[in-house]
Amino acid sequence: MTMLEIKKELTTQPKEKPAVDQLGFGQFFTDHMFIVDYTEGMGWHDPRIIPYQPLSIDPSAMVFHYGQAVFEGLKAYATVDNGVLLFRPDRNFNRLNHSNERIVIPAIDEELALEALKQLVTLDREWVPTAPGTSLYIRPFIIATEPHLGVHPSNSYQFIIIMSPSGSYYKEGINPVKIMVEQHFVRAVVGGTGEAKTAGNYASALKGQEIAHKEGYSQTLWLDGKEHRYIEEVGSMNIFFKINGTVITPALNGSILPGITRDSMLHVLKAKNIPVEERRISINEVVEAYHNGTLEEAFGTGTAAVISPVGELKWRDEKILINNGEIGEISQMLYDTLTGIQNGTLEDSFGWTI
Ligand code: PMP
Repeated sequence: MTMLEIKKELTTQPKEKPAVDQLGFGQFFTDHMFIVDYTEGMGWHDPRIIPYQPLSIDPSAMVFHYGQAVFEGLKAYATVDNGVLLFRPDRNFNRLNHSNERIVIPAIDEELALEALKQLVTLDREWVPTAPGTSLYIRPFIIATEPHLGVHPSNSYQFIIIMSPSGSYYKEGINPVKIMVEQHFVRAVVGGTGEAKTAGNYASALKGQEIAHKEGYSQTLWLDGKEHRYIEEVGSMNIFFKINGTVITPALNGSILPGITRDSMLHVLKAKNIPVEERRISINEVVEAYHNGTLEEAFGTGTAAVISPVGELKWRDEKILINNGEIGEISQMLYDTLTGIQNGTLEDSFGWTI
């Protein structure tokens, strides 16, 4: 994909913007979207911004049958001085290319993608909500469009960016969540697609989520696919524990998604000289730390919530209560630091915002 001009067709029927208390997540979409096509032999071509609209796609398109689809999730934040900030968007397009590589989708031009995103956000900037905690959620994705039922990499694709104003994740303050450790099902295995953001990973995680919900838990804590012993991720977030003063997160092992929030948290922790370790951590180690009183905090990290403190873990028949079900000191500090950088109230000493 070369640096082609991005054509623009503006909407003649701007939509009414939803009230801020109606936003929720992923329900409303802005006036415009970005599309670029890929055709074998031509590469990526015809980058364009057009009114948000349904796609016309053949029922035999390969994405519907063999799941050749990848996506990303990031946000644009309104600042106090009427600006709009993107948080590390280059990392998302880079991760998209890693996902592409894994399921044999041709690489996108990361620079063109970022340029397209900037133009799209600028065009729809009135859709960036300004109430505290709200943001414009951005969903870049790629689908295989070749109309053919043979199992092979598609010879055509579409890369699309859509955007959705989203409400505050924490309307009533940061409430720690209850998490169920999944014993039977796994999200990913080493050698599989866990470290890529492929659509299929999310379909395979739904069963665990359903089981957790039925038991009154909000998310699944996933263990490794081989031994069912080592901790991997929580729902669609990376996971951190604070044990005896040290913050520990599972090392990236091939089946864990390399979260951009995770990476940002590691930078913040190191900058503040808080002891931090990226390594294997087993569920037994967490249970033992709970029993000997050294399990101090647990929290998930991801674009959606930034930080989601874990108040309770259910493992087999045991309920592990963490920090009295309240948000811990480190979790609060990380939340305040990251959201401060994202909304421009804290100095961005890492150079993360655009
Ligand atoms: N793990 C999974 C499986 C996810 O879907 C996400 C959300 N993208 C994350 C972790 C967190 O990643 P990030 O911090 O980049 O949002």
